[in-house]
Amino acid sequence: MAMAKIEVITGPMFTEKSWELIERMKKFSYAVKRILLIVPGKDNRPERNIIKMVRQDKDLGKYSFIQWYPASEKDETEELINTFQPHMLAIDEAEFFDYWMLDLIDKLRKSKISEELTIAVAGLDMDFEQRGFGIMPELMAWAGNVKKKTTVCFHCKQREAKFTYRKSKEKKVIIVGDKELYEARCGICHAIPYE
Ligand SMILES: [Zn+2]
Repeated sequence: MAMAKIEVITGPMFTEKSWELIERMKKFSYAVKRILLIVPGKDNRPERNIIKMVRQDKDLGKYSFIQWYPASEKDETEELINTFQPHMLAIDEAEFFDYWMLDLIDKLRKSKISEELTIAVAGLDMDFEQRGFGIMPELMAWAGNVKKKTTVCFHCKQREAKFTYRKSKEKKVIIVGDKELYEARCGICHAIPYE
């Protein structure tokens, strides 16, 4: 008997969380384990898409026991997990998922399973106003291992950046964007209001 274990890779934008998730997926591929990569159906930035990165990777691109799936609905995702029986469930951009994904992971982590399952999650810990982002706070609480990644502040170029700064006055929590709209910033520079 085994139980699922949860690993979280988190931090602000531009800290290469998806690359780290890919590195962890590679380790499972070297051991010839089944990998299921799930991304949110609503993230539509093609240039940041982890599926593209996997396809272009020299190891994972040719690997047979990997499937990827843009998920937007619980039953379908659960059915795929039950059919494919992954050893590794890799979830990228987890902050974009609705609470059905949290229910699904909760169920997985509580069920007794015959084979080992690692649920490796990458996502933003906080939104642009430094609040816990979507399902990430609970996932970090359940995780046996949380890696917080940082980078150098885009603004002062000195201090450690732990936060995502939005370069616009727009208040909606989820606005998909890249460097034209967001920066990684330290706590001091994060407090500078957008002009
Ligand atoms: Zn700074």
